[in-house]
Amino acid sequence: MKTLAPSYYPYFSCIAGDCRHTCCAGWEIDIDADTRAYYRSVGGAIGERLENAIEEDAEGNAYFRLCGEEERCPFLNRSNLCDLILSLGEEALCDICAEHPRYYNVFSDRTETGIGLCCEAAAKLVLSWEEPVRLVVVDDDGFDDVLPPTAEGASCLALRGQVIDILQDRTKPVPARIREMLSLCGAFPVIPDAGMWAAYLSGLEILDPAWQKMLGTLTAAEDVLPEVTAEQFLVYLVYRHFPKMTEGVSARALAGFAAAAYAVINALYAVSESRNPETLWELVRLFSAEIEYSEENLCAVLELALRT
Ligand code: SF4
Repeated sequence: MKTLAPSYYPYFSCIAGDCRHTCCAGWEIDIDADTRAYYRSVGGAIGERLENAIEEDAEGNAYFRLCGEEERCPFLNRSNLCDLILSLGEEALCDICAEHPRYYNVFSDRTETGIGLCCEAAAKLVLSWEEPVRLVVVDDDGFDDVLPPTAEGASCLALRGQVIDILQDRTKPVPARIREMLSLCGAFPVIPDAGMWAAYLSGLEILDPAWQKMLGTLTAAEDVLPEVTAEQFLVYLVYRHFPKMTEGVSARALAGFAAAAYAVINALYAVSESRNPETLWELVRLFSAEIEYSEENLCAVLELALRT
């Protein structure tokens, strides 16, 4: 079975101690059963630290006890480096830590992966990629016994391919491409109202108060996003989320979500004090952390996209 990924994927690497928004704080970090068993076998001072740092819920699911107001992982040291890696090597990480910020979508005949925009290094890489993104093979286990594509999988991939072709048509301005995508997916071909969406998003679960503050005064704005950056953002959303069609989410909701995300980021960028790539990467990172990485918020957003 082959694993496919966007063309920028092989160039990703974590910036570790240089990361301003480490993924090792502010989230609950669950520990998978195999890693939990391994941690139990670790001896010495680090083994003792592990036992003191891990809690279990009523069902026996293990997770790291977060520390302080910033809710830091107990192994994240003052230099923002991981003491587990420093003591035991990268192989000692639990699945979540080893994989982040990678995400996966599994089809019967292929696996797709990518890097999520809640990571600042990923946001920078994805949004500053110049060429139209293509899919490349990043892994092949050599087994040919893949199942044939399911009808749902095949139609999802066919529609997603058409949508990505539309979004990568650089002969047209991005808003025109978005309207074409909405029309193809059965949605009203108008770019969603940023002010209405901002009001809705600020009523959802909020992780970072800075995000709520930004949404507070947002209104519709003229198009200010650089075209290539906007294209890469939209293609990322479509590549990552259209596979939800195989779980019953409609193409209309998914296209509406991508269009609304564009409208909100564009409006946030329009009122930014300084318009530069770093500002834009940070806006997108915040959006991703607040919306994409909260299942509850993502469901709420998809529901609204379906209704509007
Ligand atoms: S957010 Fe990204 S760059 Fe930062 S520590 Fe996590 S994986 Fe590394």
